[in-house]
Amino acid sequence: MTQSQLKVVVIGGGIGGLFAANALIARGVDVAVYEQAPALGEVGAGVFLTPNSVRQLQRVGLGPEVERRGARVGHDSHYFRHDGAPIAPVQVTDSSGWNATFGMHRADFVEILSGALPSGVVRTGHRATGFEQSREVARVSFANGAVAEGDVVIAADGIHSELRPHAAPPSRPVFHGSVAYRGVLPRERIPHWPTDRWQMWLGKGKHFLTFPVRSGELINYVGFVPADAEMRESWSAPGDPDVLRREFEGWDPRIGTLLSQVDKTFRWALYDREPLPGWTRGRLTLLGDAAHPMLPHLGQGANQSIEDGMALATILAQATYAQIPAALLAYEQLRRDRVAAVQRGARENGMRYDSSYADLGVRDAEISAHAAFRRRLYDHDVVPEAQAVAAALG
Ligand SMILES: Cc1cc2nc3c(=O)[nH]c(=O)nc-3n(C[C@H](O)[C@H](O)[C@H](O)COP(=O)(O)OP(=O)(O)OC[C@H]3O[C@@H](n4cnc5c(N)ncnc54)[C@H](O)[C@@H]3O)c2cc1C
Repeated sequence: MTQSQLKVVVIGGGIGGLFAANALIARGVDVAVYEQAPALGEVGAGVFLTPNSVRQLQRVGLGPEVERRGARVGHDSHYFRHDGAPIAPVQVTDSSGWNATFGMHRADFVEILSGALPSGVVRTGHRATGFEQSREVARVSFANGAVAEGDVVIAADGIHSELRPHAAPPSRPVFHGSVAYRGVLPRERIPHWPTDRWQMWLGKGKHFLTFPVRSGELINYVGFVPADAEMRESWSAPGDPDVLRREFEGWDPRIGTLLSQVDKTFRWALYDREPLPGWTRGRLTLLGDAAHPMLPHLGQGANQSIEDGMALATILAQATYAQIPAALLAYEQLRRDRVAAVQRGARENGMRYDSSYADLGVRDAEISAHAAFRRRLYDHDVVPEAQAVAAALG
C-alpha cells in the first residue's frame, strides 16, 4: 500500500486535529477531519506558539502565515511581582538564539490551519458518538447518522474526548482549583501598551498575563484566579468584567489601566489529567488534549498537540498497512515521556506563578533558572526522533 491509499479519519477540528491533517496531507496521506461544531471557529483569545512547534509549522509551509498574522514577542518580555517589581526576563528563543515565539489569535490560527487544507477535508456538524474496529478497518459513527471508515482513527477531540474510553483506561479530569479569565482588547483602547512583549505579574494565588496577537492590533490578556464552587461547575462561560477587575485591585496600576477597558471576558475552569499509561488501541490513537490535557502554565497544550501531529504523520508515512497498529503504538511511546514531563512541569510552574512559596526570593530564583528548562523545551525537534522510530518498525 502506498501512503496515498492510507486513509486516516481525524475526530476534532481544533488546533491538534487541524495541524495533524496538514502534516499527514504533506506526506501524501488521505485525511478527513470531522468536527462537531456547525462551523470551525475558536474563542476570542490568544494562544502562544513556541519554537518547538513553529519549527513544525514551517515544515508544512505555514511559517510565513504565522509570521504575517501572529505577533512576535521579543527580549523585553518579563516576569514581575504583583506590584510591578521586575523578577526576570522571559525566555523567547531556543538555545541557538532563534526567536520564534508568537502570540496568535486563536481564530486566526484555526483559519490558517484549516485554510491550508484542500476543500472537503473538514466536515463540520459531525459529532462522533461511537467507535468500533476490526483487524481490517476502524469505524466512527456520528450523532447525525453518518459513519466514517478509515485505516486509522485519530481522536483529537479535546479534554472531554468521546473516543478516549475506546483507547485508554478510565480517568477523570483533575480540577486545579482555579479559573482563567481570557479576552482580547484592541490596541487603540490601551495605546501605550507594548506590542512586542509577553508580560506576566505573579501574586498570591493569582497571576496575570498579556501578550500581543494579530500583528499587535490586539492585546491578549489572561487573569488566573482561585475558583469557587459555582465556577467549577461551568467548564467555559462568559465572565463578569467587574469580578475580574476586583480580583486584581491593588496590583501594578498598568493592569488596572488595561482592565478598565474590558467590557467582555470569558472564563475557563482549569483541569488537567494524570498522565495516561497508554492511549492507543489497534487502529485508534489519541492526540493533543484528548491524550494529555495540561495546565496552561507552560503555554504548551497547543504546542505539544502540534508535536504530536508531526510525530504521527512522520511515523505513519513510513508504515506499511500491516504495521499500522505497531506504528500507532510507536507514536504513543515516543510522545509519552515528553508530554508527561511537560504536564508535570506545567503544574510546578503554576505553583511558582501563584506564589505558593514561603520565601518569594526562592521562587524568583527558580523563575530565573527556569529559562534553561524552556530552552530545552524549545530546542526539541520531534522529526528526527520520529524518523528513527519509523525506521525501527522494520
Ligand atoms: C486558559 C488557557 C490558556 C491556554 N494557552 C495556551 C498557550 O498559550 N499555548 C498553548 O500551546 N496552549 C495553550 N492552552 C492549551 C490549548 O488551548 C489546548 O491544549 C489546545 O487547544 C488543544 O488542542 P486540541 O486540538 O487537542 O483540543 P481542542 O482545542 O479542545 O479541540 C478539540 C476539538 O474537537 C471537537 N470535538 C469534541 N468532541 C467531539 C466529538 N465528539 N466529535 C467531533 N468533534 C468533537 C471540539 O469541538 C474541538 O473543535 C491554553 C489553555 C487554556 C485553558
